[in-house]
Amino acid sequence: MSVHSKEEVFSNLDDEVFGTSFLPRPLPKYRFPGQESDPTAAYQLVHDELLLDGNSRQNLATFCQTWVEPEVRKLMDECIDKNMIDKDEYPQTAEIESRCVHMLADLWNSPDAANTQGCSTTGSSEAAMLGGLAMKARWRTKRQDAGKPSSKPNLICGPVQICWHKFARYFDVELRQIPCQGQRLHMSPEEVLKRCDENTIGVVATLGVTHTLQYEPVQAVCLALDDFEEERGLNIPVHVDAASGGFIAPFIHRSVVWDFRLPRVKSINASGHKFGLAPLGCGWAIWRETGDLPEELIFRVKYLGGNMPTFALNFSRPGGQVVAQYYNFVRLGREGYTKITQGCADVGAWFADEVKKLGMFELIYDGRGGIPGCTWTLKKSQDHFFTLYDLADRLRVKGWQVPAYPMPAKRSDLIVQRVLARLGFSRDLAGLLMEDLQRAIKHFQTNPSPKSLSRQSAGGYHH
Ligand SMILES: *Cc1c(COP(=O)(O)O)cnc(C)c1O
Repeated sequence: MSVHSKEEVFSNLDDEVFGTSFLPRPLPKYRFPGQESDPTAAYQLVHDELLLDGNSRQNLATFCQTWVEPEVRKLMDECIDKNMIDKDEYPQTAEIESRCVHMLADLWNSPDAANTQGCSTTGSSEAAMLGGLAMKARWRTKRQDAGKPSSKPNLICGPVQICWHKFARYFDVELRQIPCQGQRLHMSPEEVLKRCDENTIGVVATLGVTHTLQYEPVQAVCLALDDFEEERGLNIPVHVDAASGGFIAPFIHRSVVWDFRLPRVKSINASGHKFGLAPLGCGWAIWRETGDLPEELIFRVKYLGGNMPTFALNFSRPGGQVVAQYYNFVRLGREGYTKITQGCADVGAWFADEVKKLGMFELIYDGRGGIPGCTWTLKKSQDHFFTLYDLADRLRVKGWQVPAYPMPAKRSDLIVQRVLARLGFSRDLAGLLMEDLQRAIKHFQTNPSPKSLSRQSAGGYHH
């Protein structure tokens, strides 16, 4: 005798996921659902909704990693339950984090790489906050020791990523941002010096500016600050935001001196999840030498067992990204990173050359000497039947995400378009994008965009 009657079991069985009673109803959106639902069906609905997200591999706007090796997926899965903060419970994950810190300090030429301090973070933004906070604390101590006021800190930078604006606002620091001017789209030593005073906590130079992909002149800025110190007696430290460049320059631009080889560079941040090739959620902050990270910022958490120093904005945080980062270091080494990064740079340079050949664009960055990729604008000297925003929209039809945006302050009249050449954006995919770009231009030749036409009739397009 069976425990169930066959009919009863069958009538309760869902034939397949789209045949359930759950699916014809819309998903709950504003009210916390009262009832539970079948995991298969719930999964299917959530999964399907995500179909509307863009395809990350065709997202040429992001600097972040969108392709990982199967081994990375495996390690991420194995680490899904590991909390980075529980250093006593998961000592090996903590050990791996510490190895990465020293390997990066070595990669960036710290004079004491095996002993210096640093930490993993959720990304460059958190790492930038920590770098900024350390600069602010060092400056405050110096001022207080000298019996001087410490209520008006300022930080000097060029066209920085949004995280530095956040740092300034959240932590009450005046951001003295050097505006772009004419052809100069980055900081220059002269412009930095104009803004320095006794309340300057530091200068942030960006190795790989978000808007153009080019490096800021870190060495020239450091040398100018050396002279400034000699003349004025003010010792101003430099933090390098090497979100992308920290994992590019050491491999393919070895003659660019930007890191701890410059004694004035006291701290560096980088995004493991950009050209560090780790999955999303991995950043690094490294200090030149132990003394460069003020002791007052370090917390020693005892209730997890042991006594582990931490400097972070988060508490709980996934451990897999750090483990995957270590895997990348072991798996690739300098040799592998150099090959991959050079491959990306070659694709970026090729794409830049092709864009130039089209004749209607002016390259802002030709794909050489900075982050793999390229940046361009429309030539001012001729009429166009589209704007870069139209072009971005048209490319979206084929799934490509190629952003168009204005440059920051004082050059917001300059609209640029940018392509990032990351691991996984092969020469073949770049070729397909180029074909679609050409098709889009042809489309506008027969269907001029209304925006560009009105601009021409208004005469605003001629210079
Ligand atoms: C991406 C980026 C950041 C922010 O990094 P996240 O890792 O996304 O937090 C900061 N600075 C620069 C120059 C960047 O390119």
